[in-house]
Amino acid sequence: MNCVFCGSAAVTERPEVTARGYRRFRCRDCGRQFNERSAGALNRTCLPSDIIAFVVFCRLRYRLTLRDLSEIMALRGIEVSYEAVCDWETKLLPIMGDVLRKRRHGTRRGPGVSWFVDETYLKVRGRWAYLYRAIDRDGNLVDAILSEHRDMKAAKAFFQTARATMGYRPDRITTDGHGSYPRAIRSMLGTTVRHRTSAHLGARTPLPLCRRARPRSGGPVTGCAASARRDKQNMIRINNV
Ligand SMILES: [Zn+2]
Repeated sequence: MNCVFCGSAAVTERPEVTARGYRRFRCRDCGRQFNERSAGALNRTCLPSDIIAFVVFCRLRYRLTLRDLSEIMALRGIEVSYEAVCDWETKLLPIMGDVLRKRRHGTRRGPGVSWFVDETYLKVRGRWAYLYRAIDRDGNLVDAILSEHRDMKAAKAFFQTARATMGYRPDRITTDGHGSYPRAIRSMLGTTVRHRTSAHLGARTPLPLCRRARPRSGGPVTGCAASARRDKQNMIRINNV
């Protein structure tokens, strides 16, 4: 591994490991010492990264309360404070979101790609907001954003980020019929994208997505977070953060 400070490859592994069991290194160029976790978001945290990833995963995937998590971890002999879990969530959610966005990018599956778009009015940290979201034909999350308003500007912003996230335009979009959608689709995705409306779009949206998108106290829900709750692989990928 290269030095986390100067990038040099001239590093020597030290015989001892850190208190959390991570290998230590010394850079022969800049003389500084570091360990496997020094460059990660969880550097200097009180528990190994894989345990922290497990806690955050359980919190998101199973919507456990902080009290539930503390009790579960206590059964395993690990003391976890409320504040620590919130801190870990703050650190890991953006990373998990980035991983999911990259993984979704360019995952077009053949011709005839459809997106189903709607918006939900919900309260996040005491403030009401619209959650714009899109799923594909298989129920996979395309993207989601929070907006204070339900208007043309929000619809355009949503399609812009959805296109950037996925890396392609869909062939067809089904919406709940809000008046801002036709122009937003034309201006952000082009005139070749077919638009149709459906009064039963809510029934199309899978329940798990609704649950994932529901905000919890303690933090806003973004598309990234909602996706993270669905994907166990995410936890595996951040084990060494
Ligand atoms: Zn160095």
